[in-house]
Amino acid sequence: MTEIPKTHPRYESLRVRELLVEGVEYGITSKAGLIAHGRGEAFDYLIGEKTIEPARLAERAALAALFSARNPVISVNGNVVALVPEETVKLAERSDAKIEVNLFHRTEERMHRISSRLEEYGGENILGLQPDAEIPGLDHARGLCSEEGIYSSDVVLVPLEDGDRAQALSKMGKTVVTVDLNPLSRTSRTADITIVDNITRAFSNMRELEPLGGSFDNDKNLSKVLDFMSNRLSELSEKGLQKR
Ligand code: ATP
Ligand code: MG
Repeated sequence: MTEIPKTHPRYESLRVRELLVEGVEYGITSKAGLIAHGRGEAFDYLIGEKTIEPARLAERAALAALFSARNPVISVNGNVVALVPEETVKLAERSDAKIEVNLFHRTEERMHRISSRLEEYGGENILGLQPDAEIPGLDHARGLCSEEGIYSSDVVLVPLEDGDRAQALSKMGKTVVTVDLNPLSRTSRTADITIVDNITRAFSNMRELEPLGGSFDNDKNLSKVLDFMSNRLSELSEKGLQKR
């Protein structure tokens, strides 16, 4: 791993990029995953690379949904496991959720590497390796899942997910929770609870935050995110960008 000096002004962002590059080298993350991360980073700039209030609210609502679920499942892919393997295992323990590996570019080797990485962090009974069910409406490879996990889940946390799959899960009647820095993505607009935050912050916040039950209006919360972004851009534009 390239040594990044801690004094570098973009240390955190570079550190996270290195995790993904390492993920590709270990056969955990796909090359396309690097591009997806870049898209996320661009939106992170717009919120100032910190957890904003609507994100914190969604994180608390997500915890409440997971805690009250009958069969909560956290669906992970190569980006999630490269970035937050330990936090994923801890969140699963905290919410009594199962972890299932579900890949856009499914290969048996990546499935195994991802699941072993989670096991290194204490993950147990990782699902998805022997799929025995299919999500309706997706083509065969992308729809594969496990009966006891995603297929029969009532609440499914699908961070960094593709819009098609989020929509297919929603059509199955599941409560879909996502983490996605792009408030305009199809996934963000499909989910019941969208956390617009970097997964590195979201999952670490969710180890500590208190759940907040009751009604959660995702459209309204996404509007707040868009308002935050546009107000921030207006303020920056008024102040001038020179001093940043
Ligand atoms: P959609 O399919 O939902 O319309 P998309 O095609 O733009 O979105 P995908 O590659 O399918 O994007 O999904 C990945 C999503 O994850 C993107 O919206 C991206 O912004 C987001 N993302 C990537 N990295 C992170 C991260 N570290 N934290 C949070 N979100 C991220
Ligand atoms: Mg997509």
